[in-house]
Parts: sequence; structure tokens; C-alpha cells
Amino acid sequence: MNRSVPDNVMRILREEVNYGCPYPSCGQPILMWHHFDPPWNEENHHRPEGMIALCPEHHRYADGGHYTKAQLRKWKLNPNDLPYIKQYIPWTWESFVYEIGTSYASPSSYVQVNTEKILSAKRDPNTSVFNIAPWLISLSLVDENGHTIAKIKDNYLISDNSSSIIEISYHGKNVIIKDKSETNSLELNVIQISQKELMSYLEKKYLEAFKNQTIKLLDGTIMKEVDNIEKKNQFVNDLFETLVRYINSDNKLNILDINGKINTKTYSLNYTKNEVEFPNQMKFYSQWGFSECTVINPFYHYN
Ligand SMILES: [Zn+2]
Repeated sequence: MNRSVPDNVMRILREEVNYGCPYPSCGQPILMWHHFDPPWNEENHHRPEGMIALCPEHHRYADGGHYTKAQLRKWKLNPNDLPYIKQYIPWTWESFVYEIGTSYASPSSYVQVNTEKILSAKRDPNTSVFNIAPWLISLSLVDENGHTIAKIKDNYLISDNSSSIIEISYHGKNVIIKDKSETNSLELNVIQISQKELMSYLEKKYLEAFKNQTIKLLDGTIMKEVDNIEKKNQFVNDLFETLVRYINSDNKLNILDINGKINTKTYSLNYTKNEVEFPNQMKFYSQWGFSECTVINPFYHYN
């Protein structure tokens, strides 16, 4: 039998603990699957009645034999009762850039739909590392009715025990949030690149992009694969010059790569690598597909 727990069992275990670690007063939303009755080494099974969802910390203690079967069974019957679950993402960057498709934007950029900012960052007003206040990320994931089902608010990952969330995970460099219908999801990946590697990263990325697509410039002209290499090189060079201004003191550029989609009754927003749209109001080339949303202050790629 395979050690990886089937989806339907994960769903049962998550629901049972009300989407947060059931250890008294814990409630962390990131959950792992503990086999205790019988333990995995006695019998390989994925029976939900002999398993419990626990956060990574309490899972470690459970594996260390600190909790009795009776305690674990009691926690299965007494799920997390916190009104919402939250977890701090310890990202404290001096600087970073957003990457969405082949577009980059500065940390002071944001995405706004109607009057609500759904992706933004601000300097932490309360802490500083050698006089530089780190950036805090905020972001929302909404369901089709526009109701917020999960969000990151100033680096706190927050979910209101909503049963529409099927997965929330955080692994150091990435955060994944998905809803049950899988029509709404977000994935944040942190890519760290040294100044030395940055040029080849951009060349690789854009040569790929130029190969498959035609790109519309700000003046309305279309650039195709066949267009001269000088123009493409100039573009990559200009972008490089812009991005190096955001390199941290450890000589690394933090790139926050965003993928996902939000589909509501009034708008849809795709953070994706595959779609190319050129909305009228936008002043930059982008692979963001969206309607009725405003992107403020992106880098202007073409002039
Ligand atoms: Zn816990």
C-alpha cells in the first residue's frame, strides 16, 4: 500500500477537525495525516477512523508517542473550535518583485477589483532588519459570489473554517490555496535568483515566450518570432536593468511568482502563464487575463 493518503480520506479528516489542528488551542490550518489505530508500522492502512489530521508540530509529537490513543480519539470528536484559523508566513524580504506570466511589477504595485485590493504588499511598520522594514503580503481568494474564503493579510494566512477550501498548504517557499470546486485557486512560489543567474533566467523565459507568441507593443505594433534579435535583446537588457534595482543585500532577487484563478459572477482574474490578453486600459504587455480589474503601477516593458 502506498503511503500517500487518498483525497477522499484527506477530505474526511480535514472536515472532522474543522479545518484546523484539533490539539487544544492550536487550530493551525496546515495539516498532516497521522495513523494511530493501528499505527502505520503495525499495519499499512488509510482508514479514517484510525487516523487524525494534525499540524506539523503536533504530528511530530504524535509520532514521538506523546499522545495516547484515547486522547487522539477525543480530539477527533472535539474539533478545532477557533472562529478562524491563521498562520504566519515568515517571509521578511528587503525587496521583491511580482512575476505573473511574463510580467513583472514592483512591490508597490497592486491589483484592485472595484474598490478592493486583492493583491498588495506594504512595508511592516513594526519591525525592521538593519533599518530596512520587510515587506508584508496581502492577498484574497474569493468564491463565485465574491465572498472571501481565504486570504493572506500582512503575511498571516487566514481561513474562516470554510468547507469550500479543499487545500491550504505552506512549504517554506510556496503557498497553495484551492477551493472545492477548483474554480478558484492561488499558488505563490518564491524564486530566489542571484544577480549572476538573472540574465540567463530572463533570456530563457523570454526566448520561450517569443517563440510561441506574438507580442503587441504599446504603440500597437506586433512583434513576432521573426523580428530582429536586437530588439528582443534590448528588451531583455532593459528588464534586467530594472530588476537589478530590487536585489537584496545578499545579492539575491526574490521573485514572487503568482499562479491561480478567481472566478466570480462579476469578474474573473487569471494569474497564469498561458493566457495572453491585452485589455484596453492596460499600458503594458501582460499575460494576465482579466476583466474589470485594475493593475496599478506595473513596470512598463515597452515604450
Ligand atoms: Zn497543532
